[in-house]
This record gives sequence, structure tokens and C-alpha cells, in this order.
Amino acid sequence: MIEICALASGSNGNCYYIGNDRDAVLVDAGISRRQVLERMKERRLDPAKVRAVLVSHEHADHFRGIRVLSKHLDVPVFMTRRSYEKSWGPNRPLSISYFDPGDIIKIGGFNIHTFLKQHDAAEPCSFRIEHEGLNVGVMTDIGEPCENVVRHFSECQAMFLESNYDEEMLWNGSYPEHLKNRVASGNGHLSNKQASELLEEYGGDDLQVVFLSHLSADNNRPEVALSEFERLKDRFLVKLTSRHNPAEIFTLNKREVAF
Ligand SMILES: [Zn+2]
Ligand SMILES: [Zn+2]
Repeated sequence: MIEICALASGSNGNCYYIGNDRDAVLVDAGISRRQVLERMKERRLDPAKVRAVLVSHEHADHFRGIRVLSKHLDVPVFMTRRSYEKSWGPNRPLSISYFDPGDIIKIGGFNIHTFLKQHDAAEPCSFRIEHEGLNVGVMTDIGEPCENVVRHFSECQAMFLESNYDEEMLWNGSYPEHLKNRVASGNGHLSNKQASELLEEYGGDDLQVVFLSHLSADNNRPEVALSEFERLKDRFLVKLTSRHNPAEIFTLNKREVAF
């Protein structure tokens, strides 16, 4: 069994909970310690189960709460050395375990597969978190799907998948030109269309749920993102996350194989 919950997801702050019956990890802390703990309480998730916080990359929307949260929980922070070196000093954690992209980290009952992705950070990584044959992907901040993303994607039974922007809203929106180009570039973010195509092509038959994640506040709307996945609703359960509230908890169980 794995329980997953997007405690916060969006271009202004991200934090994802992945737990089994004994242990849990958090991926990123781009909201404050207080917000993380409040949202865990709201969903009746136990902070005492958290064994570590993983950092995908050093951008503030993933990193700003790291130091205070990890200190409060008294757990180590796993991040790459290059992410650490590029991170903002005052937010750096006190207890660090470095990993190299490609490493498999064992924490509690989890095997955490780390892999590089395309994004404009020092050493941006995503994670596939495995427990007893169940796999949860945390795949946000992806300019375009590389080989790593595609390979791990197809192995997941649950997924936090970036669906950052609607292409029309971005290009017709108020962002300055250089920022529009950055967001849409191969080192920026996944559009709703790119995300739905990734799911269409590489979503496995045993993928039980996809949470649309890291929606832009300016260039997307929840209903616009959802509509892009409408054509896939017979194949996949697609749900939303929110920047304001914790998403619902999804409990991932092994499916019985029918003969
Ligand atoms: Zn980023
Ligand atoms: Zn981000």
C-alpha cells in the first residue's frame, strides 16, 4: 500500500507526500513548514512517519521551506551536490545526504530511483518511488520528456505529472517575451498538450491515477488543463492538485491479476 498526497502543487510552491504504512518521504518543500504541517494535519498524515525530504532542484518553489521543515522534522535532506551549490544559502538544509542522478536511494521501505530531466536548474532530477512493486512518479518541471522521463513514466502506477500551461494562454498572456520563451523551451515546463501526449503514449495499462501538477497561476486554469485530458478519461483516472489546499489522498494498492 502507498498513500500519496500533493500537499501543495503549482508554480508558487510544491510539496508531495508519499507514504506506506510505516514510513513516508516528502518530495520538495516550496511552502513553509507551518503550511506543510497544517496540510498534513488536515489530511491526517503523520509527520512522525517522515524519514527524509527529497529535493528535485533548487528553485524556490521547491526549496524555500526545506531548511526549517527538515530541521523541525529532524530528518535528512537528499539532494545533489550541484543543486546544493546553486541553492540560496539561507534556505540550505543543515543535514544533507548527497546523491548522484541515477542513484537508487533506500529510505524506510522505499527504493527511490533518481534521474536527470530537462529543466533550467543546476542538476534537475525527478523521482520514481517504489514500494513492494508499486511505483509513484513525481515528474514536474520538465522542459520536454527525455529518455529518462519516458522510461520511468511507463513503470508508474501513480503519477504527479506536470501540466504547467495552456499554450494559447501563455502566448496570448502578459508574460514578457523572454519568459514565454523560457517556459515553452526544452528546459522550461510541460504544457497541458505535452503532458497529455506523454500520458497517451507512455502511460502503462496499470497506471491507476494521474494528478495534474505544477499548474501555472497565470497561464493555466484547472478546467482548461483537465479538458486537455478529456480524450483519455476512459483509459486513465485524472485528478487535479491545488496550490491552495492539499489534494485528496489516493491509496495505491496492488491490483489482482485476472487469469
Ligand atoms: Zn523549476
Ligand atoms: Zn517548479
